[in-house]
Amino acid sequence: MQINHVCPYCMQEAFDSTGRQSLSFRLTPHMLHDSGVHEIRCPKGHEYSVVLSAAKYEILYDLGMNALSDGYTRESVSSFASSLERFYEFFIKFQMQNANITSELSDQAWKTISNQSERQLGAFTYLYLSSLGELPPELSSKDRGFRNKVIHKGYIPPVDEAIGFGKVVYNHIMAVISELETKYGYRKIYEFYSTQLPKGGASWVVNESARSMNLSSTSAGTSVVDFDVMLQRFNRK
Ligand SMILES: [Zn+2]
Repeated sequence: MQINHVCPYCMQEAFDSTGRQSLSFRLTPHMLHDSGVHEIRCPKGHEYSVVLSAAKYEILYDLGMNALSDGYTRESVSSFASSLERFYEFFIKFQMQNANITSELSDQAWKTISNQSERQLGAFTYLYLSSLGELPPELSSKDRGFRNKVIHKGYIPPVDEAIGFGKVVYNHIMAVISELETKYGYRKIYEFYSTQLPKGGASWVVNESARSMNLSSTSAGTSVVDFDVMLQRFNRK
């Protein structure tokens, strides 16, 4: 996946020198970095940061959607599955903050489960139960089987199966966010979310949002968006 950007200094100069209200610029692609932060130097020597200002699970879900658009169905399933796992991490760390556990201790505990997704699922399940008083939604054995077949057995799924899995993951994450919004209020989740976003180091930072999921964007008091509405952003039905 690539991040497309235009040098903000060059843009500023172009507007100032022409005095026009609208101009078109050629976007320069840059390969997405794991950190979400891209320190860029334009051909004129201007330095700026382009930041994909999104939680890791949102970035991974975008990767999955882009892989689908490019025809890479296996890769999309792998990214959707990783997105869900990173969302569990987001949930666990949010609950640690709610319990007034310092981020140092929380990170220390995370290290003991960071290499084992089954342990992470266990932590998620019990924290969900203790904080929300009910069992969390979980992937069906059919969905887990599908994911494993793709990731571990080299199965190349058709587009509709990949989208179907993406929808399950999406609805799963949105259902949990909806529960969190109801229990804690949007503001509290957003405050934690904003601490999880990558930060650029340059004096001019250009922030981009993820297209599929964006917890910082709300409508009618909720950040939850219907799957079909999200899908339309990628021009796919
Ligand atoms: Zn420039």
